[in-house]
Amino acid sequence: MPEITNKSARLITSEEQVEDKQLDTQLRPKTLLEYVGQEQVKSNLHIFLEAARQRKESIEHVLLYGPPGLGKTTLAHIIAHEMHAPIKVTSGPAIERAGDLAAILTNLEPGCILFIDEIHRLNKVIEEVLYPAMEEYALDLVIGKGPSARTLRLELPRFTLIGATTRYHLLSGPLRNRFGATYRLNFYNPAEMAQIVARSAKLLNLPLDEGATKEIAIRSRATPRVANRLLKRVRDYVQVKGGGKVTAELAKAALDQLAVDPVGLDDLDRQILRVIIEKFKGGPVGLNSVAAALQEEMGTIEEIYEPFLMQLGFLARTPRGRVVTEAAYEHLGMKPPIQKQTSLV
Ligand code: ADP
Repeated sequence: MPEITNKSARLITSEEQVEDKQLDTQLRPKTLLEYVGQEQVKSNLHIFLEAARQRKESIEHVLLYGPPGLGKTTLAHIIAHEMHAPIKVTSGPAIERAGDLAAILTNLEPGCILFIDEIHRLNKVIEEVLYPAMEEYALDLVIGKGPSARTLRLELPRFTLIGATTRYHLLSGPLRNRFGATYRLNFYNPAEMAQIVARSAKLLNLPLDEGATKEIAIRSRATPRVANRLLKRVRDYVQVKGGGKVTAELAKAALDQLAVDPVGLDDLDRQILRVIIEKFKGGPVGLNSVAAALQEEMGTIEEIYEPFLMQLGFLARTPRGRVVTEAAYEHLGMKPPIQKQTSLV
């Protein structure tokens, strides 16, 4: 049985942790110009915002999706900043009852942006309240019960909803269709990651040489939130070890000590690959079996761990289940079985 790592203690999880809140606010880019990478999204968004600005209208509702830590919340704040609009932030799990949503909507200022993070976690009843609000800027309240119940329609100020989700496929069709623009955020390439690391290091007053910048960038799972977190840990390490400019060697030593390997995998990533290799002959194996063997939730594996393993080309999703690739065997220093060497090259 592999040793189970506590998820909340994972250093390189891309999910937001309590320690990130302050760091995120400090390092979050404020304008589209400062926002590194995602070039396609940025150029589409620029036109979308500019057109609304020229027409002096508020923008249509926007849906942002992609793995955690890639910049969805940041982009929502940037949109508000670029439109000079106030922003109200909430999340799917925070809105428990229809009344919670009604209270939020009726208190919005005209032209306000309402950001709902994890929008896939809104329940169906609340979604139904949201439909007329998004489409007609109206809120239908049911007053009373039984035969005497009647509906009261309240006018709402014009607002823009920005929804963010890591799990696009969990959104219902009617909800998806009510967004005027949908943008998907992708993992960042190494050059973009290096730019993000350099930018954040400057804001943290941490002098990095080029080698250190590259080293941290490559180990950050192509995810800015992870880069920021690793930078903070490197800063602590360097401070204790004597300070000065951070070299590649120093960054490597700091990250090795944190058990982040040269491509950014931690113990749990390696365990996922090892379990599939050792218990299921490298796959194909169903996600439920992998989750059971690791005592992890299927959704967590699918949403948090798999996207990066697939991005590295270490794991493939096939119609018959998950398969570990030859590259993963090599990375783990293991020999792929004969049939894999031929069928998966
Ligand atoms: P998400 O909402 O997708 O989980 P966030 O928007 O909270 O991710 O991003 C986490 C942190 O990563 C931000 O606070 C910011 O510092 C950094 N970040 C995200 N995207 C970028 C980017 N494109 N350029 C620079 N830094 C970024």
